[in-house]
Amino acid sequence: MSSTVVHGRVVPTGLYIDGAWRAGVKTFDVTDPATGKVIAEVADATGTEAVEALDAAAAAQDAWAAWAPRARADLFHAAHRLLTERAEDFAVVMTAESGKPLAESRAEFALSAGFFQWYAEQVAHLHGTYAHGSPGGYRIVTTHQPVGPSLLITPWNFPLLMSARKAGAALAAGCTAVMKSAQETPLTGALFVQTLHEAGFPAGVVNLLHTTTSPAISDAVMDDRRLRKISFTGSTGVGSHLLRKAAGNIVNASMELGGDGPFVVLADADVDLAVEQAIVCKFRNAGQACVAANRIILHSDVAAEFTEKFLARARELRVGNGFGEGVDVGPIISERQRDRVVRLVGRFRDQGAEVLLGGEPVDGPGSFFEPTVLRVDSRDRELCGEELFAPLAAIYTVASVREAVEFANDSDYGLAAYLFTRDVSRAVAIAEKLDFGMVGVNRGIMADPAAAFGGTKASGLGREGGHDGIYEFLEPKYLAITVD
Ligand code: NAD
Repeated sequence: MSSTVVHGRVVPTGLYIDGAWRAGVKTFDVTDPATGKVIAEVADATGTEAVEALDAAAAAQDAWAAWAPRARADLFHAAHRLLTERAEDFAVVMTAESGKPLAESRAEFALSAGFFQWYAEQVAHLHGTYAHGSPGGYRIVTTHQPVGPSLLITPWNFPLLMSARKAGAALAAGCTAVMKSAQETPLTGALFVQTLHEAGFPAGVVNLLHTTTSPAISDAVMDDRRLRKISFTGSTGVGSHLLRKAAGNIVNASMELGGDGPFVVLADADVDLAVEQAIVCKFRNAGQACVAANRIILHSDVAAEFTEKFLARARELRVGNGFGEGVDVGPIISERQRDRVVRLVGRFRDQGAEVLLGGEPVDGPGSFFEPTVLRVDSRDRELCGEELFAPLAAIYTVASVREAVEFANDSDYGLAAYLFTRDVSRAVAIAEKLDFGMVGVNRGIMADPAAAFGGTKASGLGREGGHDGIYEFLEPKYLAITVD
């Protein structure tokens, strides 16, 4: 097994297919976005290896589906224990390749391990139903069977959480998996499948590909009738493309796509709480989160107080290398993405937005951008509705609750919305009107293993996490049994 050492942690660099690591014909570099330096070289899969991974997943499917629930649960518990022993390896490697502050990597690890633990607890509790046939004379027994070999595609912004959440649900349901990591963050996925291997997941049950040519991978396996499911997390554009491909073969598809989260603060809100939650919801992972606050929508009665306090807190944020002591905001994932942010701020300025803080890239090595706060009057849908994916807070002011709700819903996306008010009864009524898959009431962080995570409209199809997440990988089958 070829491997490399990243910040003192040994990480496999090959492709993991049919229970073994192998080199690729080519390799590609992994770069630390905080320094711009190459930290590893990993195997670069082609369509050929993708088909070999699917061969392995298809061959392992029936035996894996037949595992007794208790045995599968025990294996999940073993994997959870091993993951936990390696917590710091994961945190260090995640910070090295994604740039996020070490404290955030540790938090991501804790949540990811929590998903595995939660799935472990559910594996033995997946039930069917029993009913009388409508006209009598027979019984209806409904069971759930694994959909089958699944392609799991993850993004770079939460490399462990996305891997653990997807693979955990697929494997718990009895599906085998071909995982494809993001090109920017292959090392975390490698540590993850290595841990599953050591825990005892059988050969072929989980496979991992890294690549610089993602379309070659999806083209190779999505036209293959053995593939029964695609679960994708990433941009709406790529998700839409993959849905069209899935349509060709009628492949079951779950899509976790982009977001344009409104963060609504009403006149009766606890402003200090709203400010603290907005800081986390906006600047966590340098704003590169699908559930980040994209439009901070303030009722005019609290706009001045919120803005002043928010600016004071944003000024305190320390930007720097994620390994640095007390760093709050790491780099943007790449130079290319940082250039996009520079252009985005230019577009806001052109529309008359006032830059209250920051607004510029940070000089020196690495792709850093200043925490930025903009006051925006424009309602240009193309600009306001764009996913910022940056440490860029856009503040809007509204005159009424009704205007807040209308503006919140005026989006192509429908992933996460946030609502701050002291009136719980009003919060429920407004939450019902918000066309979003998730609504945080007086909180800016929502991911939880027991909760169904996902969105409406262009934010995707299906849910991850909770029981719904497992059922995304199961298909009902009903038996009609004659009973005299
Ligand atoms: P992206 O769509 O560019 O890439 C996501 C993944 O898809 C990567 O692994 C990439 O290599 C792969 N990919 C790209 N083209 C492909 C193709 N033709 N075939 C197969 N795979 C392909 O997105 P990104 O920029 O890496 O991630 C950011 C996006 O992800 C944002 O829009 C964000 O909102 C979204 N996201 C959504 C969630 C969610 O749960 N809803 C979570 C995290 C990120």
